[in-house]
Amino acid sequence: MASSMVCGFCSVGCSLDVNTKDGVAVSLTPTREYPVNLGMACPKGWEALTPLRAPDRATTPLLRTAKDQPLEAVDWPTALDAMVSRFKAVQATYGPEAVAFISTGQIASEEMALLGAVAKFGMGMVHGDGNTRQCMATAVVAYKESFGFDAPPYTYADLEESDVVVLWGANPCIAHPILWERILRNPHHPEIVVIDPRVTETAAAATQHYPLLPKSDLTLLYGLAHLLIAWGAVDKDFVNRSTEGFEGFAVHVEAFTPERVSAATGLPVDALELLADTIASGKRVSFWWTMGVNQSHEGVRVAQAIIDLALLTGNIGRPGTGANSITGQCNAMGSRLWSNTTNLLGGRAFTDPDARAEVAGILRIEDSRIPDRASWAYDQIVDGIREGTIKALWIVATNTAHSWIAKRDVAELFAKLDVLVVQDMYPTTETAQLADIVLPAAGWGEKEGTFVNSERRYGRIRRVVRAPGQALADFSIFKLVADAWGCGEMFEEWSSPEATFAILQRLSAGRPCDITGIDGYDHLDAAGGVQWPAVGVGELGRERRLFEDGRFLHPDGKARFVWEEPRAVAEPTSEDFPFVLLTGRGSSSQWHTQTRTSKSAILRTLYPEKPYVEISPADASALGVIPDEWVRVCSVRGEMEARAFVTPTVAPGQVFVPMHYAGTNLLTKASFDPSSRQPSYKSAAVAVRRLAERRRYS
Ligand code: SF4
Repeated sequence: MASSMVCGFCSVGCSLDVNTKDGVAVSLTPTREYPVNLGMACPKGWEALTPLRAPDRATTPLLRTAKDQPLEAVDWPTALDAMVSRFKAVQATYGPEAVAFISTGQIASEEMALLGAVAKFGMGMVHGDGNTRQCMATAVVAYKESFGFDAPPYTYADLEESDVVVLWGANPCIAHPILWERILRNPHHPEIVVIDPRVTETAAAATQHYPLLPKSDLTLLYGLAHLLIAWGAVDKDFVNRSTEGFEGFAVHVEAFTPERVSAATGLPVDALELLADTIASGKRVSFWWTMGVNQSHEGVRVAQAIIDLALLTGNIGRPGTGANSITGQCNAMGSRLWSNTTNLLGGRAFTDPDARAEVAGILRIEDSRIPDRASWAYDQIVDGIREGTIKALWIVATNTAHSWIAKRDVAELFAKLDVLVVQDMYPTTETAQLADIVLPAAGWGEKEGTFVNSERRYGRIRRVVRAPGQALADFSIFKLVADAWGCGEMFEEWSSPEATFAILQRLSAGRPCDITGIDGYDHLDAAGGVQWPAVGVGELGRERRLFEDGRFLHPDGKARFVWEEPRAVAEPTSEDFPFVLLTGRGSSSQWHTQTRTSKSAILRTLYPEKPYVEISPADASALGVIPDEWVRVCSVRGEMEARAFVTPTVAPGQVFVPMHYAGTNLLTKASFDPSSRQPSYKSAAVAVRRLAERRRYS
């Protein structure tokens, strides 16, 4: 017997058929009929069941009775009582805002909505954020300001309908492999244009690659707009009918002459002209971006400059077009609507009294239960711990002690907390090891709910395996916490994931993300997932592209051109630290901090076990570094040992270290986009130094 469900790793949202025998999941195969993956899966998807069987699964709650004591196994009532009594003690002493939570894009929409509601409406917290801040907050802000709502406009079919596919700071060959397969299925033999400082796997396979200098994206985009406007390659009808602000934008980009842009980006003028001409000549041009844009000191403006290009050329709302952010985690898109962190449920604003009243009415709670302020972002919560205003933290399904930017003092900061609760599948993560209380959570495949993929498609996850020991679905844990806190009655109607999905539908009614037309979980199964908006859905499985009528989501129906002068990076290179550090995904077999992918012997054979640093042959030669020699990569904040991978895929003056290794974020610098507060992981100044005694990797 097979059960179909959406994969629990990345935001592509492939469907997998999990085969069970005698009630036990034994194998899986990608779903052939699902409109996303069409029978394909990447290595992570094929190995999705393996992390569930890992020997280090959390099987019982753990409690540290004092800071200097080890974690010890306890039962659920003891763990919940300790969590609630310690959180309440903190709130009694320091106020309700002194307890915060960090959520995740890895749990179901119903679970993240329940967590956000219990924490803020039931337990009185004000501050909560998610690890999604690290991957796509930039796209959220960009879309909201440009379109009027956080609304990625595309459907994956656009990848197959473009005649020009522009991949900006994106490496789908390994980061979103099934989307790369979709590009390869495009029957129009598109120009595949990659904008990236490195010769990534995708750049190597593209028809055009533009290796711009790191973080010169905004200048390049304005330079392209300058040329397109100068050549008259503007869709005037569309711009007049559907946008605001073009005149000001045109004045702004006048200063971005090809010569200025060439000097800033390192790209020759004729290359700029070829790129602009490729965009101008395309009939259906789609622009796709990921972390190379989002994780930047000015990522919001870069994303909006991509949107500006799509608007001025009229490449939006038609098949094969769009300004399209591909997000990262399996349910980052669900988090954008339902985590109740930055946004009030359903993409509303906490600061809007009408929105608070509406949500309170739907949930049948008092308005005063809903905070009237936006939550602090992740970095502000970390700063709050540093400054002593956050005294207790509840972390769900993320590994802050590994993944946070410039993480060197995270362990020290967490030691300052009166209480740290970590809810995770594994008690062995760097973060869980620092916890005072560990709550054992079920994983993907062990619980019910929905994920929303990058193209806004709701798809189901299911329980096909029993969670080990006393581990529980996150949904059940949140219900238990609410009961232990004494606010369980508020969430009686949230009795199951499917009942909660019905609440989310009511909360979505009349909004751009309306899903009132979905007829329960069975409808999602029958339709092959359903994209939002889904109002009165009759046509099962229909692709839903936004803005086909040229109307956007600002009150006047028009999209906005947005621009700003480019800014310098926070940490330029120097004599002591002469290289720009680039970070990113290492391979299609690795996922983030490798909490799960490291559990698979098959996946482990597909990526290098030890950290490595990509360095150009010219720089290696100048330093006397030979291939496979161990070197130290150092920033002013810390250092790591890494194997020298001497390769022409990085330009002189740049090095690349994959994000998956524990040492990488000892090097990164804590700088943030000022609008989205997303960390800028891809620009820090480092040095590469030889060890006192030469050692080679063997
Ligand atoms: Fe899972 Fe993403 Fe791989 Fe698809 S591409 S199988 S969703 S990890």
